[in-house]
Amino acid sequence: MVTDSPSSVPELRGTPVVPGVAYGPAVVARGEVSAEAVAAFGDGGYADDEGALAAFDAAAAEVADGFATKAESATGAAAEVLGASAGLARDRGLRGAVRKNLRGGSPLLVAVHDAVEQFVGTFTKMGGLMAERVTDLRDIEKRLVARIVGEPEPGVPTPSEPSVLVAEDLAPADTAGLDPAVVVALVTERGGPTSHTAIIARQLGIPCVVGVADLLAVEAGTLLLVDGTTGLLTPDPDADEARRLVADDAERRAALETWSGPGATADGLAVKVLANVADGESARSAATAPVEGVGLFRTELCFLNRSEEPSVDEQAAIYTEVLAAFGDVGHVVVRTLDAGSDKPVAFATLAGEENPALGVRGLRLSFGNPGLLSRQLDAIAAAARATGTETWVMAPMVATVAEAADFASAVRSRGLKAGVMVEVPSAALLAHRMLEVVDFLSIGTNDLTQYTMAADRMATDLAHLTDPWQPAVLQLVAITAEAGRQAGKPVGVCGEAAADPLLACALVGMGVTSLSMAAAAARPVGARLASVTHDQCEEAAEAALAAADPAAARAAVLALLS
Ligand code: PEP
Ligand code: MG
Repeated sequence: MVTDSPSSVPELRGTPVVPGVAYGPAVVARGEVSAEAVAAFGDGGYADDEGALAAFDAAAAEVADGFATKAESATGAAAEVLGASAGLARDRGLRGAVRKNLRGGSPLLVAVHDAVEQFVGTFTKMGGLMAERVTDLRDIEKRLVARIVGEPEPGVPTPSEPSVLVAEDLAPADTAGLDPAVVVALVTERGGPTSHTAIIARQLGIPCVVGVADLLAVEAGTLLLVDGTTGLLTPDPDADEARRLVADDAERRAALETWSGPGATADGLAVKVLANVADGESARSAATAPVEGVGLFRTELCFLNRSEEPSVDEQAAIYTEVLAAFGDVGHVVVRTLDAGSDKPVAFATLAGEENPALGVRGLRLSFGNPGLLSRQLDAIAAAARATGTETWVMAPMVATVAEAADFASAVRSRGLKAGVMVEVPSAALLAHRMLEVVDFLSIGTNDLTQYTMAADRMATDLAHLTDPWQPAVLQLVAITAEAGRQAGKPVGVCGEAAADPLLACALVGMGVTSLSMAAAAARPVGARLASVTHDQCEEAAEAALAAADPAAARAAVLALLS
């Protein structure tokens, strides 16, 4: 949406996903090699296949070296992603496929494209983590083509001064090496609140706005003021005013760093601030943040690269690592396998579903394969016994009260506390009846938004719909929280909505009793909550529920809580 600012400079607006104010020149990530350069290159005019293969080798070496250099200055998961991309660019199998295509008479660019497509097909069939590498393969192809035709590689330029990174969308390999010292904000034309860009920005604590229509009309070098709370982008603002806003924001953010928990409003209403974790390593890292436990352990993420179901003992060892990290700190909510749809797990997921998001995913996998669930529950119970950690267990993708009741009795028979996720509108509408059969509910706003708005959470063009501030989504959250209040049972939020400090306050005003999020978001959320009273949270909830759309809801809550 383009609106007119008071200075008549066109402002841009998108979906804000990480709060904070930033100001700097736009650096534009180029997504594609220019069509003109490719057309001018044609078949490359090589004398023979060997000449074309030598050109490929030179390009592959340059691309691989570029990734390797970036990997050296990155750490953790980022370094791994970049190192793996360097390996793919140098892969002997890829080179062999290019050579075969050249010998079959294809011009070089076609030979490279077909070789990459062959790998894409293989990786997609393998599923899981390998399927996720498809984005990286396509990124490598663009880089190879750019090198071959003599253009700079597409992707993220390394800015020489603190800059706002502007892109259509960002691939994992683009964001893996980002340095928050020089990239002060991320802004994308596509992507939603759960996109890869949003998740990385949240981890790095960089202000971020996604789904900004007409963003790519902004020229490189344009000075941009980015507000990650309102979603507003102002090109060429008054420079002094922009610097003042950035300085005020830096002061506010520095104050957040001192928040050390436990979660509570300014007038003392306790609200548990919890972490979302994926494995032992992320749990140990989360345990160093000011959180009171784990609100969501996504167990399926431990098995994305497994073709066979791990034994009960092996599963127990994996869960033990996570439970042990929080033994002294608080409780851990373990979610049973949420395989399927965007998280295929080879040994659990059904192949060839027409519409996997509405298919046999999450708890539904246990209908045809009850052993899968019972073996996982045995393993969780064994890990709970081994560690002594207070362990709650919940099921994903629950649609009926009968499903909740069956799941709860299976969990309770192992001596553990049982709950279900509220991700399907039917579960929210019947939350009061769900709570008759379970001990707690946890609202997964990512999927609840997807299913309420009938908008694929991975769709890059639907950010305005895949927004948890949508009034219809908030209504369902409010219904669920009110059911919890009446039953006197905990109702948490563990979707990305909990990581949004403003929305978190409104959720508490609706009656939500815990907020679970990426550990990096705990301080901003906890500090914001500590700055407002319970009454203010309730007013914020009412205002958000009454608003006509997400932008109006954000503006109303911001005005009330500032
Ligand atoms: C959710 O749907 O909000 C949720 C927390 O589950 P996931 O993101 O893992 O689907
Ligand atoms: Mg979900």
